[in-house]
Amino acid sequence: MNQVVIVICDSLRADLITATDAPFLSELAQRSARFANHAGVFPSTTRTSAASIATGCLPARHGLLGNTMALDEGDGLVCLSVGKPDFRDRLHRATGRTLHVPTLAERVGHAGGTAIAISNVSPGAAYFLDPDGYGWVYNPAGSFGPARRPLPEGEGLALSKGAAGDDAATERFCEDVLCRRAPSVALLWLSEPDYTGHHTPLGGPAHRQAIASADANVRRVALTVSRLDPAGRRILFIVGSDHGMETVAETIDLAFLLIEAGLKRAPNSSDVVVAPNGSAALLYFSDPEGPLVGKVAQFLRAQNWVGRMFVGPELAEVGLPTGSAMRIALTLKSEQRANQHGVPGHSHIVRDWLEPKDVTGFGQHGGLGRNEQSPFLLVSGGGFTPGVRSRRSSLTDIAPTVLRHLGLPSAGMDGRPLPH
Ligand SMILES: [Zn+2]
Repeated sequence: MNQVVIVICDSLRADLITATDAPFLSELAQRSARFANHAGVFPSTTRTSAASIATGCLPARHGLLGNTMALDEGDGLVCLSVGKPDFRDRLHRATGRTLHVPTLAERVGHAGGTAIAISNVSPGAAYFLDPDGYGWVYNPAGSFGPARRPLPEGEGLALSKGAAGDDAATERFCEDVLCRRAPSVALLWLSEPDYTGHHTPLGGPAHRQAIASADANVRRVALTVSRLDPAGRRILFIVGSDHGMETVAETIDLAFLLIEAGLKRAPNSSDVVVAPNGSAALLYFSDPEGPLVGKVAQFLRAQNWVGRMFVGPELAEVGLPTGSAMRIALTLKSEQRANQHGVPGHSHIVRDWLEPKDVTGFGQHGGLGRNEQSPFLLVSGGGFTPGVRSRRSSLTDIAPTVLRHLGLPSAGMDGRPLPH
C-alpha cells in the first residue's frame, strides 16, 4: 500500500537553506520537486499552520484562528493560548467542536488507513493535527491513541524542545513509526529552527546550528525512507516548513493603546479582546455588529506601526472567517532591512501578556511579511520529478497531495494536489 512521510522543520525560511548550514536539504532540493513560490497561511503561526496542513483548508474553513484565540466559556470573551494542553478540550466544551473540517487522520482512518504524528512543538500545534483522535499523536505534554485514549507514560514522548529532543523524536519516528508500524501517513514535526530562532538572532551561530540540526534529522528520515522504498515510488516524501521568521523590531502593546484611546474598558474586559499572534493580531468583539468595530478600525488606520488591516468582509481576502466575533485582523509593519547577521526582514510584534518576555532582535512570525511567508517545500517519490515549480503553492496543497497518493478523494479542501 502507498504511504506518505511528512517532515516539518518549524520556522525554516526557504532562503536560509544553504549548502553550509543545510547541506542535506540543499542536496535533496536538487532531486525533488521544489516549490519555489510556496506560501504559508494567515496568521503565519504554528498552530494555525498545523491545522491547515492537516485539513487542506484555510483558517476560514478549519476555524483555528491563531496561536491565541478569544473564547467565550460563559463569562464573556477571554484570550487563551491555543498551545496549552487543555485548549482543545476547552474549545470543544465552549463551541461543541474542535476543527470545523475533517483532518487527514480522519479521512485516512475512514478509508481503513492509519495516521501517526510525532510533534515536538507545543501541545496545541500537535493536537490540532488530529484533534478528534482518529490516529496517534505523540507530544511531550501527553500522547494519544485512537479515540483520544491517553497513552501510558512509557509509550509517550519524554522530550524537550531543541536539537536533543528533535534527535530523539526523529529516532523514534524512524525506528518505531516508519520501520515497525508503517502507517499510511507518518508526520514528524521538528521544533528546530523555530525553538532557537525565538530566543536568538536569526543567522547567528545558535540559529545556524539549529538549522543544521533540522537538516541532519531530515537526512535521517530520508535515509530510512530510501531504505524502505529504494525505487522511490510507493512512499511520497514531503519535507517543508510551516512559515518563516522576521527579526523583531519593536513590541507594541496593542491592548494598552486601545485602553488609552478609550476604546477598551480594561485589560481583561471583553468589549474588544486582542489575540496577539506575533507580528499579527486578531481582534474579537463582544458585539461584533456594534459601532466599536468601526471606531477601533479607524484608530488603527492612523497608527504608523500597523502594516495591513482587514475589517469585516475584507477578512475573506486573507482566508479568515467573516461571520465570527473576530472582526479585525492586522499585521504589523515589516521591512526588508537586514539584522546584524545579514538576514533580511524586520517586523514589529504585538505584546503577548500570556508570554510577556522581551524578544527584540530575535525571530518571530504571525503576519504577512515576505520572510515569515516563505516556507519551503520539497516533494520526492510517488511520481514527482525533480525540478523547480514556480506556480504558487500553499500549505493547504499538502493534504490533497497526500490523499491523491493514497488514492483517496480530497473534496471540500481549499488546496489542490501539487503537480507531479
Ligand atoms: Zn511554526
